[in-house]
Amino acid sequence: MAIDDYKSIGFMCGIEIHQRLATSTKLFCSCTAEISGKGREIGRIRRRQRAVAGELGKVDRSAEFEEERERDFTYRVFRGNSCLVDVDEEPPHEMSMEALRIALPIARAMGMRVVDELQPMRKGVVDGSDPSAFQRTVLVAMDGSITVNGK
Ligand SMILES: [Zn+2]
Repeated sequence: MAIDDYKSIGFMCGIEIHQRLATSTKLFCSCTAEISGKGREIGRIRRRQRAVAGELGKVDRSAEFEEERERDFTYRVFRGNSCLVDVDEEPPHEMSMEALRIALPIARAMGMRVVDELQPMRKGVVDGSDPSAFQRTVLVAMDGSITVNGK
């Protein structure tokens, strides 16, 4: 398929880069950002996923599929490493300014356009890897580029 063919069908592609930041706290609470399992275990939470409609009123098909599987997940809770925000029993706290101070220079280095307003977002995670079944994030900037080998 030639590049013009991709344009004719409206194809768009991008790269999403995930990088854990070396911050003192998590992004939306004061829990340590260090990987769990080092502190004292203070409890366990058992959950089963249920599919619910999102902001647009639609239920995600993959979430429905996971609900139909009726799998139970057990999450270990460690002192200082987990809180009610992590399990969606409390609203997110103010975003970590430390994380923002790391993200903004990275965005500038990639020539990105920083957004006018930061809006926390939820992205569904239906594989049981997260007790809240979603990942909370913030879009900081868009439309940047990285030059690799002159391209
Ligand atoms: Zn927390």
